[in-house]
Amino acid sequence: MARVAIVTGGTRGIGRAIALALKAKGYRVAANYGGNDEAAQAFQAESGIPVYKWDVGDYDACVAGIAQVTKDLGEADILVNNAGITRDAMLHKMTPEQWNEVIRVDLNSLFNMTRPVIEGMRARGWGRIVNISSINGQKGQMGQTNYSAAKAGVIGFTKALAQETARKGITVNAVAPGYIDTDMVAAVPEKVLEGIIAQIPVGRLGKAEEIAACVAFLVSDAAAFITGATLTANGGQYIAG
Ligand code: NDP
Repeated sequence: MARVAIVTGGTRGIGRAIALALKAKGYRVAANYGGNDEAAQAFQAESGIPVYKWDVGDYDACVAGIAQVTKDLGEADILVNNAGITRDAMLHKMTPEQWNEVIRVDLNSLFNMTRPVIEGMRARGWGRIVNISSINGQKGQMGQTNYSAAKAGVIGFTKALAQETARKGITVNAVAPGYIDTDMVAAVPEKVLEGIIAQIPVGRLGKAEEIAACVAFLVSDAAAFITGATLTANGGQYIAG
């Protein structure tokens, strides 16, 4: 039987490209999303990938959503924690709501999604978890203390869980994209974006498919010796040690 993969935020942007890439590799894919029903329905219709709506910031909703995927497709062998949001503001103007919402969706979601699937992966002796971090979790970004903290936290979670699960056939890795051409980046004002592209040595934004290719490799059997790693894909904008 083909392996089952859950991709959070799998209906738009990077997650959409990941879901499509994993389907093309023959996995049975479930794409989660948070609220945009129209985009999700259009994605399901065009890709044939089933979509599931739940809030990854809510533990009980994750447990229920994963149970539904298990019923429909089988137990998750692969989990891609991709869903994420930004709520940018300088810290001196940031509200507690902006801080909490980003930590909840971008960081707490890793616990909420991974906790319900990890016991099954351990019992079966195989699993792949890929967490989408960000260049801004590696280098920090002005106006994004919330996001930078959450995305740095993603890397810490990845390193710790990798050690816990290595002997159980489960690898846990992070991918840290640079600026990728999705709705999230389209929200950046044009002048700011021009300045960002000027700092990218390859001279362009990344494509969602280029991040999906990283994930497809990390979940493959060929990547069994890679765990606890952060794969940086940012066009040379920040070369992490
Ligand atoms: P998009 O905004 O294009 O898509 C986000 C996806 O996440 C959507 O499917 C959205 O669902 C889903 N989502 C958001 N909140 C929730 C929630 N609470 N519960 C479930 N699903 C949710 O984002 P990107 O594709 O640009 O980003 C994907 C990931 O990559 C994020 O973690 C982001 O931080 C990271 N990243 C992105 C970069 C970029 O340049 N784009 C750079 C570095 C990292 P819905 O459609 O229902 O809103």
